[in-house]
Amino acid sequence: MSPPLPPFETHTVENQPPPFEPRDLWRDDVVLRDAVEREGAGEFAARVAAYGALAGDELYRIGFDANRDRPRLRSHDRHGQRIDSVEFHPAYHRLLEVAKQHGVAGLSWQLPRPGAHVARAALSYLHHQAEAGTSCPLTMTHAAVAVLRRDPALREWADKAAAPHYDPRDLPIQAKTGLTVGMGMTEKQGGSDVRANTTMATPLGAAGEYRLVGHKWFFSAPMSDGFLVLAQAPGGLSCFLLPRRLAEGERNAFRLLRLKDKLGDWSNASSEVEFCGSWARRVGEEGRGVATIIGMVMLTRLDCMLGAAAQMRMAFAHALHHARHRRSFGKPLLAHALMRNVLTDLAIESEAATAFALRVARAVDAAERDPAEAAFARVATALGKYWLCKRAPAFVNEAQECLGGAGYVEESILPRLYRQAPLNSIWEGSGNIQCLDVLRALDRDAEGGAALLNELDGAVDLDPRYADAVTALRQRLAAGGIEEFDGRAIAEQLVLALQAALLLRTRSPVAATFVASRVAGAHGLAFGTLRGDVDSAATLQRALP
Ligand SMILES: Cc1cc2nc3c(=O)[nH]c(=O)nc-3n(C[C@H](O)[C@H](O)[C@H](O)COP(=O)(O)OP(=O)(O)OC[C@H]3O[C@@H](n4cnc5c(N)ncnc54)[C@H](O)[C@@H]3O)c2cc1C
Repeated sequence: MSPPLPPFETHTVENQPPPFEPRDLWRDDVVLRDAVEREGAGEFAARVAAYGALAGDELYRIGFDANRDRPRLRSHDRHGQRIDSVEFHPAYHRLLEVAKQHGVAGLSWQLPRPGAHVARAALSYLHHQAEAGTSCPLTMTHAAVAVLRRDPALREWADKAAAPHYDPRDLPIQAKTGLTVGMGMTEKQGGSDVRANTTMATPLGAAGEYRLVGHKWFFSAPMSDGFLVLAQAPGGLSCFLLPRRLAEGERNAFRLLRLKDKLGDWSNASSEVEFCGSWARRVGEEGRGVATIIGMVMLTRLDCMLGAAAQMRMAFAHALHHARHRRSFGKPLLAHALMRNVLTDLAIESEAATAFALRVARAVDAAERDPAEAAFARVATALGKYWLCKRAPAFVNEAQECLGGAGYVEESILPRLYRQAPLNSIWEGSGNIQCLDVLRALDRDAEGGAALLNELDGAVDLDPRYADAVTALRQRLAAGGIEEFDGRAIAEQLVLALQAALLLRTRSPVAATFVASRVAGAHGLAFGTLRGDVDSAATLQRALP
């Protein structure tokens, strides 16, 4: 007979995993470490490593606070004056403070040398694993610099957006050490189709100055110091910088109407806004609004891809941690063959996603120096944004299921990841829009198409099944006339082949299984349908030591 339990005790708690955190997100992630080195950011490794330790400890912990206590709109102060302000949990500010200090929003601009964009991408990937909501203002701030720095008159904006300082004070930018920048494109009558924007921009006397009247239907991070927005000027759709405060200190004329009640992304505020004669400065030429803001959008799309890879990585790490420690039917979950198949499949998907996102980051990094990489970045960004973001929700759900009921409970990060996962596929151009971009590139961007084929060709000698797939793809592309209806199918084949090429070229131990399952068809529709002889133990040990 077992000894009697002390008073009040009813049972012994057992068969539960040890805490997941603190965890060094850099040290544990060999795929990330290899990619940072391979894609040219080795000299930044120590900086990224420092952030990995922080992200898996303090940032991970306070991410729960930032999401539990959601932002609140304060339209008026207690005297009835409009303030159009948003109140956040202190954890939100701390996350932004640490991220900006470490260069998540600015490293690539502060140290503009080869590899800096890759290092910043790695920082963004680590930050997103700890807390995804703050990634929104961070990515927009980073991406806006690409547009702001082209206009010498906006030098202070560009420099302070890239600066390693977070300054949440609601002051004119001249009085601040660091800035955040948002983006306003989507209106009620059209988001993907921004040419349907109705917000009107009327020129003022001074060159480049306008008054904006209209609205935006989705306007995230509304406490940003400024926003790049699209509006209709006399010469057509144009891009404007709309500051929150004017130089003299008064509030610019816009109203936050309400905050969106969102499925996820809870730490971040997304608002509806009306511009009531807001002062704005034109950026780029009149009528070239889309061409101007695309410089920002290309970078936010890269971060969507990195975010999707980060969500997969964090979800996978939780699933494997749990399966190693939890037992059922007399043995660890991981000792069950079906569970091994699921986790091995997830490990392979996660590796391919991380490696590909950082490969695209290198293309972005090299774009100014190397036209072929610039061409590759144009088409690979659309492909990766489409595919990685499409994979993340199903992936996170599968990882969640590995935890059983615990994966459905808020104390684990899985429910938060699950709510967040679909967002990256919607904003910054939804899936179909990315596929249309890919079709356009195949049709009209000869350099983009050539860069794609060149990347694919680099691995044809390494696996005959892969070589067959590339031959078929080449023939399909050469035949031309790809119908819009087939856009997703062709994008999927291309991006899977690109991921396979990368894994093969880099001699990844998962390359052969990736090719067999994702390129040669030995896989079902769900995760956990790998076939044949797969070294699960080695794959999982490598994926999370
Ligand atoms: C939480 C959140 C925050 C956001 N924050 C911002 C922000 O800060 N700033 C901002 O500007 N926007 C923001 N957005 C808006 C987002 O970018 C848009 O929702 C998105 O671009 C889609 O636009 P839409 O909602 O108007 O949908 P629509 O354009 O109506 O599209 C609906 C569906 O139709 C598809 N579709 C559209 N055209 C075609 C076509 N030609 N062929 C095939 N399919 C097509 C789309 O892919 C999509 O699946 C945010 C959205 C969310 C959810």
